[in-house]
Amino acid sequence: MSTRSKVITGVIAGFVLVLLACGYLYWTGAIRIPRSFSLEKYDYSELTEYEPETFVPDLILVNNEHLIGQDYDSDIVFYRDTDVLMNSRVVDAYGELSDYIRENLNDRLYVSSTYRSYEDQERVLEEEGEEIAAQPGCSEHQTGLAIDCYVMYHAGMGFIDSEAGKYVNSHCSEYGFIIRYPQGRKDITGFDYEPWHIRYVGHPHAEIITSYDITLEEYLGYIKTGEWYRFENYVIGCCSEDDIKVPEEFAGHGLTCSRDNLGRVIIWGSV
Ligand SMILES: [Zn+2]
Repeated sequence: MSTRSKVITGVIAGFVLVLLACGYLYWTGAIRIPRSFSLEKYDYSELTEYEPETFVPDLILVNNEHLIGQDYDSDIVFYRDTDVLMNSRVVDAYGELSDYIRENLNDRLYVSSTYRSYEDQERVLEEEGEEIAAQPGCSEHQTGLAIDCYVMYHAGMGFIDSEAGKYVNSHCSEYGFIIRYPQGRKDITGFDYEPWHIRYVGHPHAEIITSYDITLEEYLGYIKTGEWYRFENYVIGCCSEDDIKVPEEFAGHGLTCSRDNLGRVIIWGSV
């Protein structure tokens, strides 16, 4: 081999090695490709006071920094005819996801954990230790909006190796869920990748978070008090909890409101 060929081969080999190393670091989450996320602003002319009839829990942020109290009020019900407890808000969405998997992938989606009370979480922490389990008040399982799922022979990290797990991970946003702890975002979410843990945030938030490949923390961090945004045929706005106002043209619309555990209310609706 001529010196010139050796140099070229060396350069190519070096390039491939660097690519492989970057791929490995990306896969382990040690490096992240910066993502650009922005929503189109909605320019309103006048805001008017708004009194929500009810609040849904969809966008409540629960993590190691944003806790919920022992007395956090979740509307917990049994899922269909089972003894599985979950937030009433999630039942239909999870039912549709589970039905799809049974009818189209010939598999059954099971729930290993959904609602856990503050006291349950204290017990889990004692059994599993701080490395794995969240502190009481830091687990979104306490809201009943998070579901840990599996299929037979594929639980935990193995869930992603099943057809059902792949489907859940790439399509759950269509049902209003997000993969709450995605690969390589531990610095933001506080958790390693959990392909089995889905969290209901509803529409259109699940689509936004998933299509822009961001976390719930980043999504709520982007949305600013007093701002309104557009996404497809939705408007999304944010107010302080004690001063709820909406653009006057939407005041008569069926708007949905959720507190975010950051002292704010997120309001949205299709227009
Ligand atoms: Zn979980």
